[in-house]
Amino acid sequence: AANKIGIIGLGQMGGHMARNLAAAGNHLVVFDVVDANVQAAKAHGKVDAAATPREVAKQCHTIVTMLPSTPHVQEVYLGSTGLIHELTKDHLLIDSSTIDPTFTKSLSATISETGALIIDAPVSGGVNGAKNATLTFMVGGSTPAFDKAQKVLKQMGKNIVHCGGPSTGQAAKICNNLALAIQMTSVAEALTLGDKLGIDPKVLSSIMNTSTSQCWSTTANNPYPGVMEGVPASNDYNGGFASVLMRKDLGLAIDAAKSVEASIPLTSSVHQFYNMIVNTGHGKKDFGYILKFLEGKHA
Ligand code: NAD
Repeated sequence: AANKIGIIGLGQMGGHMARNLAAAGNHLVVFDVVDANVQAAKAHGKVDAAATPREVAKQCHTIVTMLPSTPHVQEVYLGSTGLIHELTKDHLLIDSSTIDPTFTKSLSATISETGALIIDAPVSGGVNGAKNATLTFMVGGSTPAFDKAQKVLKQMGKNIVHCGGPSTGQAAKICNNLALAIQMTSVAEALTLGDKLGIDPKVLSSIMNTSTSQCWSTTANNPYPGVMEGVPASNDYNGGFASVLMRKDLGLAIDAAKSVEASIPLTSSVHQFYNMIVNTGHGKKDFGYILKFLEGKHA
């Protein structure tokens, strides 16, 4: 029983992570509130379904969770059928969900009282990274917990970075994503203005790519349709990183900033743009859709 691996949350990301863990030869015990996701995971090999998170903890010492947001993590860890009721000093819990770092810190303290080890290990790399086991894991937690988690994290990802104590993985994730959202917005503003001033977005983009404004949103995910092939902007903003998820991560950054009274004025503005994108029904579009808003051409 001790060498089975539990995985809870089998969505876009967790489903692929489960497949990679099964492919690495692990016997899995899975749980999700959506039965279709459990059935899909069972096709991956030696995979058993559990009825509750608590049942997963009864059967496995190492457990990965990949859930939408803070309330779901709270329910799975601390709810009436949660993991907490079965934990021992042999358990290692890995939460890869992107959630509120303040909650993560208190969860870590609560779990540690049982003797179990816990790390926050949110990821970057998106659905393709999960699929190809090339995720970057940003890990917060003690060194013994980090060391113990290496083996299983390497079966799902490529870069495993120890950021520091509990919740520093979550901090790294939301800080990266707020910089990404602001960069994307700035590139979209530049391309929109340039277009109106008569410079071809392809020419302006190639200049930016070899100039000081170069960033991931110019080199890898240009938001102007047709400038790059194979990116969401050239596919009606389908695929990519959904605006609704970016809105969530910016909201987490704002909550976290409040807790330490940090000034993040640009994050606050960009968060409002993503609220508008989501509230006008474009939440599924890649976050480069901000360009259509700036152009005033969104549907
Ligand atoms: P998702 O919504 O596709 O999957 C979440 C899964 O959790 C679903 O299968 C859902 O049924 C399940 N679930 C919800 N509540 C549950 C509960 N109480 N018990 C058990 N299962 C429950 O989300 P996702 O895209 O896989 O993202 C998961 C996390 O990873 C999020 O925090 C997200 O911000 C983060 N993330 C996502 C991406 C991405 O590109 N999708 C990239 C990096 C990080």
